[in-house]
Amino acid sequence: MAISIYRGNIISSRSWDELDVHERGYVVVEDGIISGVHDELPEEYEKYDICDYGDRLIIPAFSDLHMHAPQYVERGVGMDCLLFEWLNTYTFPQESRFADRNYAGVIYPQVIRDFIRHGSLQVNLFSTIHYEACDLLFRMLIDSGLYAYAGKINMDMNSPEYYVEDTEESIRETERFIKEHIDLCNRVKPIIIPRFAPTCSKKLLKGLGELCRKYDVGIHTHLVESKAEAAWARELFPMCTSDGEIYEMTGLLQGSGPKIFAHVIFPTETEDRIFRQYSAVSVHCPDATTNITAGIMPVTSLHEKGYDIAIGSDVGGGHFFGIYRQISRALQLSKMKEFYEEDYKRAVFANAFYMATAAGGRVFGNIGKIEKGYKFNALVIDNMQDEGFRIPVLEALERFCYIGDDRNIRERFIDGVRIDPDEVYRKLIEK
Ligand SMILES: [Zn+2]
Repeated sequence: MAISIYRGNIISSRSWDELDVHERGYVVVEDGIISGVHDELPEEYEKYDICDYGDRLIIPAFSDLHMHAPQYVERGVGMDCLLFEWLNTYTFPQESRFADRNYAGVIYPQVIRDFIRHGSLQVNLFSTIHYEACDLLFRMLIDSGLYAYAGKINMDMNSPEYYVEDTEESIRETERFIKEHIDLCNRVKPIIIPRFAPTCSKKLLKGLGELCRKYDVGIHTHLVESKAEAAWARELFPMCTSDGEIYEMTGLLQGSGPKIFAHVIFPTETEDRIFRQYSAVSVHCPDATTNITAGIMPVTSLHEKGYDIAIGSDVGGGHFFGIYRQISRALQLSKMKEFYEEDYKRAVFANAFYMATAAGGRVFGNIGKIEKGYKFNALVIDNMQDEGFRIPVLEALERFCYIGDDRNIRERFIDGVRIDPDEVYRKLIEK
């Protein structure tokens, strides 16, 4: 059995509002799994070498639960637009370029490198409608070592004529994708990705619902992203009272895989029921909802209603990869919401850190905490101190989320194995 011992300031979420801190503690990793976290090293381990990170912090790796890989080159451009103008001017033309597998071969290694750089080691991705490019992305994710959900997206209406699918073909290609990828790797799994209700016919959603049941896979989509989107979805599906009910009625919540919905800014009581009933995960994407002026997710009230909430970068609607920065943005937005809405209670740092690590990681198994039984998917980050004045370790973590970046991430581990972003990038482009 391979045993590794790491020492540093260990911080992990115990619960939604509680952080567990071991200053200068020890984490023992056996075959990639954490077998113990200790303040004093037990005698039995004294014979092993210790990898001592000094006053650096050891934290769980971040999970990015909503990101559009083909929108990589849209980061930080077109931000004067609102949602539909942005889709038509930037996003649909950009995504249509992935009909060319070679183009995907240039862009996707950069996406994967940047996830690793910024410490997002578990990711859930949108792609495009093109089978070949989606297959390439999936295989690159496997080669990278990341934990991921990925697949082929579906859209058969209300889309430009250069970027839309035939309904039957969309279902057929999705089934082919699931069949050919479901058993390739334990870390990377297919998921069904209808873009959002307004771009999918009822026939398409029903066909995808059957695949969810048949192959027991999950779903990843956008839900009540903005008031305009939710109203449009209800207009197109008059038999449903809410955006969420569209997916329930078409069978898309029937697989045992994860049900992941980005945004969920204006949920109704039907969504409240659906999220609890199907243990669905909502994804807060603070940068993106600000950039497209969609509103602010009511994080604390959703938590009180029993929602699981994770965090996503939503690149390219969001402009920055680092999930640590989405932690600080979530807190800033939460304060704004409290300022404008008297009965709203803002989130605090422990809540946002929990969403970015423990809540997001759980989607991939025993991941997201530095705790016995969890996989050692972890980061070592700088202690963020100034000369002449020291701050406590929890404040150092908070400071990293506000002003740190990938340069402050010193080590990245997946299943207890060190991973280097540039090495992975080289491997992917040489292949
Ligand atoms: Zn999105």
